[in-house]
Amino acid sequence: MSKKTSGIHHITAIVGHPQENTDFYAGILGLRLIKKTVNFDDPGTYHLYFGNQGGEPGTIITFFPWIGAYQGEIGGGQVGVTTYAIPEGTFHFWQKRLEKFNISAETATRFGETFLRFKDPHGLQLELVERQGGKLNDRTFGDITPEVAIKGFGGAVLYSTDFEQTNATLVDTMGLEKVAVEGDLIRYQSTGYLANIIDIRQTNMARGRMGVGTVHHIAWRANDDQDLIAWQNHVDQNGHQVTEVKDRNYFNAIYFREPGEILYEIATDPPGFAHDESYETMGEAIKLPAQYEEQREKLTESLIPIEVRELD
Ligand code: ZN
Repeated sequence: MSKKTSGIHHITAIVGHPQENTDFYAGILGLRLIKKTVNFDDPGTYHLYFGNQGGEPGTIITFFPWIGAYQGEIGGGQVGVTTYAIPEGTFHFWQKRLEKFNISAETATRFGETFLRFKDPHGLQLELVERQGGKLNDRTFGDITPEVAIKGFGGAVLYSTDFEQTNATLVDTMGLEKVAVEGDLIRYQSTGYLANIIDIRQTNMARGRMGVGTVHHIAWRANDDQDLIAWQNHVDQNGHQVTEVKDRNYFNAIYFREPGEILYEIATDPPGFAHDESYETMGEAIKLPAQYEEQREKLTESLIPIEVRELD
């Protein structure tokens, strides 16, 4: 049985102060804070989700903001660069916008595309690239309008400790297709229109260290719960040690570490982020899973208040 993911569901990273995180991803990049909840394993800290206006899979970056935690090291076994797709003709807008907020960025070219590369305040490597695929993001915030807004992920650049195995897993297990080779990069594509281009560096990199400014895991899309079980069998049959299904409140998920040491998750599209609050008000209130609801007062006291604010 072969299976193909349509692309990235979400990417999760570790960062520093939650207000700096919110100012950058909401205030500057113009993403919507779609969920404000707690780390289920450490409920005194936030788990923040940013995405397009609809909070759709393929647009979602999530953060564990840890104040005062160790700075990590980007390296093998991680998503090295997170790529966002912007509408065609908006490169200049974004270049100007980053300049306006004193974010140093450089341009780089690969596979015939021009990328604008920069870092977030905690060290995560990001880039923007114009892509035709995927619908516009119906987001208006500050100077950002749907015509220029980030659509979602373009994809990612993977750093592996064993690139041949990472190549093989992406094709044999996740079902992506090799589409191009350039320098020390191989480009793979999934079946979706967005969050669908993965470049893998063809160099074994020294293992990175998890901490602030590093990506924790990359999640791939499964259609629904039934599909997730099929994925679990498929991953197991491909020789990977896969977890049981975990309830993540907004999706169900399984996890495995691919042989190049990158942590993979496979997550269902449903139920999505509007299942415990309305679409209109998503992200405004702190949402707690049922097991923590009794401790709401105490937990919310330990969380630093954050706000989404226009910086324009
Ligand atoms: Zn995840």
